[in-house]
Amino acid sequence: MGLLNAGQLALKSARCYLSPFSTSKLWICTRTTLLGGKNILLMGPPGAGKTTVGRVVAHRLGLPVIDVDDDVLETTWKMPVAAKLASVGGERFLEEEGQALSNFSASGCVISLTGSNPLHAEAMQHISQNGLVIYLDVDSEDIIQRLTRMKVNRIVGQEAGISMRDILQYRKQFYEKWLDVRVLCGTGDTVEEVSEKVLKAVERYQEHEVETFVSTRFDSAGSSNQKAYFSDVVVEGLATDGGLYVPKNGFPRIDAREWLRLVDMSYPERALVLLEKCIHPLDVCALDLRTMVLKAYGSNFSSEAVAPVKHLSHNQYVQELFHGPTASFKDLALQLMPQLFVYCLPSMCNYLILVATSGDTGSAVLSGFSRLSGTDRHRTGVLVFFPEEGVSEIQKLQMISFREGNARAVSVLSDFDFCQRTIKRMFGESGLTGHLAVEYGTVLSTANSINWARLLPQVVYHSSAYLDLCRDGVIKFGEPIDVCIPTGNFGNAMSAVYAKQMGIPIRKVICASNHNHIITDFINTGEYDLRERPLMLSHSPAIDILKSSNLERFIYHVSDGDSCLVKDLFTRLDSQQHFQVGEPLLGRIQQEVLAGWCSEDDCLAAIQTFHAQTGYLMDTHTAVAKVVAERLQDGSCPVVLSSTAHYGKFAPAVSRALKIQNIPEDPVEQLKKLGSTASAPQLHRDVLKCLKESGRRGHTVCQAEYGVLVEEVESMIQDSFLKVM
Ligand SMILES: *Cc1c(COP(=O)(O)O)cnc(C)c1O
Repeated sequence: MGLLNAGQLALKSARCYLSPFSTSKLWICTRTTLLGGKNILLMGPPGAGKTTVGRVVAHRLGLPVIDVDDDVLETTWKMPVAAKLASVGGERFLEEEGQALSNFSASGCVISLTGSNPLHAEAMQHISQNGLVIYLDVDSEDIIQRLTRMKVNRIVGQEAGISMRDILQYRKQFYEKWLDVRVLCGTGDTVEEVSEKVLKAVERYQEHEVETFVSTRFDSAGSSNQKAYFSDVVVEGLATDGGLYVPKNGFPRIDAREWLRLVDMSYPERALVLLEKCIHPLDVCALDLRTMVLKAYGSNFSSEAVAPVKHLSHNQYVQELFHGPTASFKDLALQLMPQLFVYCLPSMCNYLILVATSGDTGSAVLSGFSRLSGTDRHRTGVLVFFPEEGVSEIQKLQMISFREGNARAVSVLSDFDFCQRTIKRMFGESGLTGHLAVEYGTVLSTANSINWARLLPQVVYHSSAYLDLCRDGVIKFGEPIDVCIPTGNFGNAMSAVYAKQMGIPIRKVICASNHNHIITDFINTGEYDLRERPLMLSHSPAIDILKSSNLERFIYHVSDGDSCLVKDLFTRLDSQQHFQVGEPLLGRIQQEVLAGWCSEDDCLAAIQTFHAQTGYLMDTHTAVAKVVAERLQDGSCPVVLSSTAHYGKFAPAVSRALKIQNIPEDPVEQLKKLGSTASAPQLHRDVLKCLKESGRRGHTVCQAEYGVLVEEVESMIQDSFLKVM
């Protein structure tokens, strides 16, 4: 793994280390070895502070500073830049400016680009080969104010009749294309503060090994010193010692002024800025991350806001996390995760992801992987096994709408445990894995909820909910909110804890369980006890969970990274089905989270009552959160409920809650009937479409035999993957 990864990283950063080939007229060389002699290139709109910040940064690093306007253009043209612009006009100016930069080379300098340099592709290609491009991302309104003060009323490329605002907006796409690292500047940041951020960004870029991951069960005596980078963690999923990966140095903390910049951004813009802070640019470069984020959170969501926040009643708000293609919150992670996954994969083999599911994961994973394109699609696939009788009708129809290509679902005439066990057995049989590797160049893998690439994207929507409340004037930045989350594997809740670490003022994360309330009991007593606790069916099956996998990350977090303790507790849970934590840890747990549970009757009653009062229809999981929030939240600050599924996904239970007479048998009719009684939210277009299409077709049903499932695996590999040998 280590070897592959070094290779991968070398490939990805190759662009940066190519030795510059140039027909230089001007060549400046310095003694420093910073960034291996690379330049620091400051990029941004006019008025962003490139020249002044450039001088401060150069001074602090003891490097020469070059201002493209003064030191390149004027010396080349032998006339002031303004005079040139006036004499040749905008278009010709851009071309000559680009030519001048293309003929210029330097190394080990701080270079302040002009605002229009990034519009010339050839020049940028040339200069960025030997430089780290730092984008001073300043709000357009701040730029307009500064330019007004500087009495600049037109900038390069601005034709008559086009506003400054529009031209700044137009230019952003070029800055976004060339940046290696973004420095987000807040309103009111001083030159010194921005310079400090630039220095930190350079340091971060150079110190890749600081942003590695450790296992929650890390044992400094026993473990090898091999570093786990983002790509390792995404591909491996679980650490070899059985623990979960967490960032070695926690999450980056974002200051209030930077958060305020995010308030007016769209969801994908927020996601990009936050993920850039959490994923090192040498793991995923900024441009590729941008491409992935825009694809993940685009028209595939039925709400342009992606994860909109709506007012419910009094101080209660709901964040609708069900507008993705499969109508559960899992889409928020799984529309992005497959793209990160294939990006991190070693390029020499195919990967087949095997999933056993009895719930929402199946369709979300299928949807995410089916959207891969090109070679990615021909070397990465997913095969889902689900129990023929063990999933809801709607979940089944959603899954079987994927039956060919690189994403397929087949059902098994057995239960979920059989599917799960069979997959585990396949992973364990070296005869099979060896055969698949040799014959088809294919490696088997998983995509379960403990994967870092599933947790990380969820931090974005918790942040986004808070920013929406700021934007809408419900709170001022800095004021606290609570969040209330229906919890199973504690993934959604853990992401809220991480959002808080990044600086979102979440006061309490309120965990809501149904009558399988092992997590609630643990949080309230410190005792996690699997003994004599049979799993009971419920109306909110996605949180019917006894072993809450991400809880391990939470305990690691509240114990300040006590990996010995974590290892001890979770190995004890495996061997004795039980563990207990005492003070002071329990106190720290209760400082962060509150927990409560909701009975089956209360869940249905809450759906009915709230629908009768307001017309808004909640799904069963959202209702669990609402009931618990009403009991535990004191009303002193807003509370955001995580609405983790659309009511259409759990139509039979929701229909029962509404006491609908003669519930139609046909799922499509059932859905329509529900939709017609609800004033909000609307029917889910993708669920409806998929039900209409799937209902008319059959699907593969497998006998409950190991050999039969292996045959499915092999035949899928045969007809969907490229031959790699
Ligand atoms: C998966 C799921 C949950 C549970 O999420 P965790 O991250 O495991 O706590 C809650 N609600 C719905 C609808 C789900 O699909």
